[in-house]
Amino acid sequence: MIMFMAAGFFPLAVTARQDTLSAYSAASRFWCLPGKCISIVKSSYEKPNLSFLVLHDDENTGLEAAHDFCSKNGGAIVELQYGSERNISFGNGRIKFAFDPNQIFNNAGVQKTLKKYSHQLPRPEAIKQVRGLALAVLENYQADSLGYFVTLHNNSEGRFNILSYLRDPKFDGVADSVFINSAMDADDFVLVTEPGFFSYLKRSAVNVVLQSPAATDGSLSVYAQRNGIPYVNIEVQDGHYDEHFRLIGLVADMLSELKNKELYVAK
Ligand SMILES: [Zn+2]
Repeated sequence: MIMFMAAGFFPLAVTARQDTLSAYSAASRFWCLPGKCISIVKSSYEKPNLSFLVLHDDENTGLEAAHDFCSKNGGAIVELQYGSERNISFGNGRIKFAFDPNQIFNNAGVQKTLKKYSHQLPRPEAIKQVRGLALAVLENYQADSLGYFVTLHNNSEGRFNILSYLRDPKFDGVADSVFINSAMDADDFVLVTEPGFFSYLKRSAVNVVLQSPAATDGSLSVYAQRNGIPYVNIEVQDGHYDEHFRLIGLVADMLSELKNKELYVAK
């Protein structure tokens, strides 16, 4: 037990602060791995509305757009903070490990992402604690009671984009359907798990990918689809603030419209 505590594994602790100017409160919880504590920050605006989830700490355009959306319309944002990098690195001394926080939502995914970004695998307790981070994120976002996930990601110019689902062998079988509006930047798109979402966004002339139920990695979208929780990822090129803000508004309209028509059923 002493070893366990000495490795830096502590239960979540809570701090809270009130921001009276923009009328939201932020509460931070901490999930600690050896040599690294990750903050899970939840910003809650006065009026309830959509909840957004931001997993990658180096992606800020979506976060900024979500805060602006919530300050006008209400809502909440759960984000991970761990040093403005894409991957989370941890470990003591010279032995460092790293993983992508969007690949830890099943056991195989955790092993795979740790292997990909580390020279060796950490001790089994640390692997368990990485899985624990995923569970802590799920507990804080509360998708089960919300009945959906809305995640925000930012990519960089001309690398991973909607065309990757058609052209990159790495994405073979990941998409069931892809709709491309050639007037939009290919880096800006929405990935969904519900056919009703796909049809709505296609009708709205938005680049959209419908994820296949056969997709199998450790990402949150696969977790959501396997667990029957409708999932939307709004993925926009870093710096395309106006587009991220526009797509957030469109997704908010989509969720309220489809919910009213009972075209998707919140759990
Ligand atoms: Zn991301």
